[in-house]
Amino acid sequence: MPQHRAITARELILLGYSVAVVAIALFYFTFASSTKELRQVSENLFHHPFTVHSAAADIKASLHQIRGETLLMVVLRMRPDDWDASTAKIRKLETQTHENLTLLRRSFLGDMSRVDSLEKNFDEWSAVRNSIVDAMLRGDTAVAEQMIKTEGAPRFNAVLIDVDYVLSFSQNKATQFVGDASEISNNVLGRGQIVAAILFAAVAATGLLVVNRVQHLYRELTKQATTDALTGVGNRRYFLDLIAYEATRSDRYGQPFSLAIVDIDHFKKVNDSYGHLVGDAVLKHFCAMCQAGLRQSDVMGRLGGEEFGILMPNTELHDAVAVLDRMRHALAESPLQQVDAEIVVTGSFGAVSSTAGHGQTDVEALLKAADLAMYTAKSQGRNRVVSNAIAQAACASPVQHRSEV
Ligand code: GH3
Ligand code: MG
Ligand code: MG
Repeated sequence: MPQHRAITARELILLGYSVAVVAIALFYFTFASSTKELRQVSENLFHHPFTVHSAAADIKASLHQIRGETLLMVVLRMRPDDWDASTAKIRKLETQTHENLTLLRRSFLGDMSRVDSLEKNFDEWSAVRNSIVDAMLRGDTAVAEQMIKTEGAPRFNAVLIDVDYVLSFSQNKATQFVGDASEISNNVLGRGQIVAAILFAAVAATGLLVVNRVQHLYRELTKQATTDALTGVGNRRYFLDLIAYEATRSDRYGQPFSLAIVDIDHFKKVNDSYGHLVGDAVLKHFCAMCQAGLRQSDVMGRLGGEEFGILMPNTELHDAVAVLDRMRHALAESPLQQVDAEIVVTGSFGAVSSTAGHGQTDVEALLKAADLAMYTAKSQGRNRVVSNAIAQAACASPVQHRSEV
């Protein structure tokens, strides 16, 4: 199985900065390109179809008004006093139409020859109308009426056809541009959503890495704060805290617990004969053997040097002695194999039990009693378990319970 390496703080900071830089760049790029596209679309819409359509619609309205004024003059026999006003109105509409034609030339996207034709037909229609007005001025009403039918009407219709072409073209163009605009808006929206999703994923992934890193550090720290680095059993502080906790629990629920202190026999000799490295291996071997004989709920801790503590919750003293004795046998029967030697590792055990939770358990007194029992085991020849049943009177002489190999 490949080992997963935890991300370092420096890598995490670098990753955070990279995510921020990429996020800002991505946001700026998307924002800038989207704004440009949307502005282009609205400019297109405004400058082309809308301007052209309004100019063409204006031209069409002017055409009808000019035609109306001409018919008023000729067919309905306008009073000559009103001719000047009518002519001025027509001139104004003509000027307006030429201005609109200039606008069309600038913005029309369709067939420009139709704008040329529009202008040409408009000018020709103007010329016919001038002839009609001249005929009227001469008093030749019949000729004027005839000219309206034969020349004026066809010219007017020709101009109208060109204007209608421009109108319908600009209308189609407007529809197309609006379609384009909505497609581009949708694209921009889609891009925005993708960018948002990418940013969210990047931020979430970075956040997860941070949480993962903090968890890893927390686990490491907790492990280092509670474990003895060489043997892997609990360290002194952790073990003593655990006894205090177990004492409180035992007092509350009225369940006794047992405690043992064990010291490796003649360990100095191992160091002296085989060196410190082998001494360390013996310490590890000793802990592994002891732990193999313990239950899941029992805890072993290193009190210092080659001295260890064993905490057995919910365990009466005689049961604890039985467990420790089995452990002692297992140790004696499983020497540590070295290339050139077999090292038999034994220990002296001092065991005590709490007073079944009646009253306040005195942890200090319990430890002293266990220590005393362990020293008794040493003085009686080592490699044995000695128990002290009256733990509450810790300084009293231990009741010696012996167990020989
Ligand atoms: P006894 O049976 O009376 O307990 O004798 P002993 O030799 O085990 O006891 P003593 O206190 O004389 O010697 C303990 C030795 O343990 C001395 C010390 O150098 C050694 N020691 C303590 N901690 C370590 C360790 O982490 N590694 C190694 N290799 N040796 C250690
Ligand atoms: Mg020793
Ligand atoms: Mg010692």
